[in-house]
Amino acid sequence: MPQRSAHEAVNSYFTDAARILDLDAELYPVLTSAYRELAVQVPVRLDDGDLLVVRGYRVQHNGARGPYKGGIRYHPDADLDEVRALASLMTWKTALVNVPFGGAKGGIEVDPGGLSAAELERMTRRFTMAISHVLGVYRDIPAPDMNTNAQVMAWMMDAFSSKAGYTPACVTGKPLDLGGAPGREAATGRGCVFVLAAWAEHHGRSLEGIRVAVQGFGNVGSWFAHEVAGRGARVVAASDLQGGVHDPDGLDVGALRDLAAAGRPLSEIPGGVALTNDELLACECDVLVPAALGEVITEDNAAAVRAEVVLEAANQPVTPEADKLLADGGVAVIPDILANAGGVVGSYFEWTQNIQQFTWKESRFNRELEDIMTAAYTATRETAERHGCSMRQAAYAIGIERVANAARMRGYV
Ligand code: NAD
Repeated sequence: MPQRSAHEAVNSYFTDAARILDLDAELYPVLTSAYRELAVQVPVRLDDGDLLVVRGYRVQHNGARGPYKGGIRYHPDADLDEVRALASLMTWKTALVNVPFGGAKGGIEVDPGGLSAAELERMTRRFTMAISHVLGVYRDIPAPDMNTNAQVMAWMMDAFSSKAGYTPACVTGKPLDLGGAPGREAATGRGCVFVLAAWAEHHGRSLEGIRVAVQGFGNVGSWFAHEVAGRGARVVAASDLQGGVHDPDGLDVGALRDLAAAGRPLSEIPGGVALTNDELLACECDVLVPAALGEVITEDNAAAVRAEVVLEAANQPVTPEADKLLADGGVAVIPDILANAGGVVGSYFEWTQNIQQFTWKESRFNRELEDIMTAAYTATRETAERHGCSMRQAAYAIGIERVANAARMRGYV
């Protein structure tokens, strides 16, 4: 079967869930396409004097429930189709966790690996200025994603503020000294743990001693590993772009985080055995956590997955074909729009704090995050049980129903 594009994959999940809801046919074209797609040229003067010209995108999928919200990704694969797919995922995600945002995503088709900090800064500022007319505190609020971080958000905030005046709420995921929220950096990984804990509790399991394999050791993967190990789980495998490491007795997560922060291979950790990213997906574990790229579990390797549950920390790590194979093989999947929604919930907390100019303590941030993530898991599980469907179909159904109601009330159709 020809591989679907990332956007077609999201829309296939949309269609499955919309059928369960018996959704009004008029809403399909409105909810399966983006409201606005902006593609811009981003010329970057390199340190050696050469000019690099790259393509940047901001896609605003649906704003019925609030300002557009979604991260900015720097990656060679971040083309218009991928950004479009990720923007629509954000619409269903923000609706599922019931935060007052729509869905958007941005990206630059670039390999940032070879760029200096000064080149990254020039690229970020140029991109921000090129899309600034569609951004704003009540219009569209970017955040970090793959290969972007708090520093990139600081540059975006400064570029936007140079036109609009000091506007910290125009982006989230900022450094703490610039209006960032204590707890935001860890929120996506920590949110994954809250969802996994709710899943474990429902299945009469404990996180104590549960065996976890994590692909990707950036913001999401490393914070997830840190938090889950803190609850007694055994991280038996971890990897990043350079490959991974395996130890059935459990790896030292603190040492892995130190290696990742230093840009060193995770396999340098004492006691572990090196493994490839493909081998990690097939390793013996209870919980498999893809936390890097999309489309890593496909129809070619789904049968090799030996975990009891796949927790989708990354966006779209499982293709629709693999999703069916996993279900047939009795492997549960906790879908991305639920599993990794802690990031956008944390961004919502940061945005509200910026608007109110009142900073919460991290303990309040984490408590409110746990409440929202646990409630979203429970609602998803109950909906899945009621309709006899997968957790992915249930999560989409909840999100679609909320967006469809808002779209109808606002007169979109
Ligand atoms: P990041 O850039 O901080 O880290 C990415 C990690 O993946 C790095 O360890 C990198 O080495 C690894 N990686 C890259 N290519 C790989 C490959 N081919 N094989 C194995 N590992 C590879 O990114 P992040 O912010 O942690 O995002 C990871 C995923 O989580 C993405 O899918 C992103 O969309 C999703 N996500 C992120 C957030 C957030 O708040 N940052 C929120 C929701 C979802």
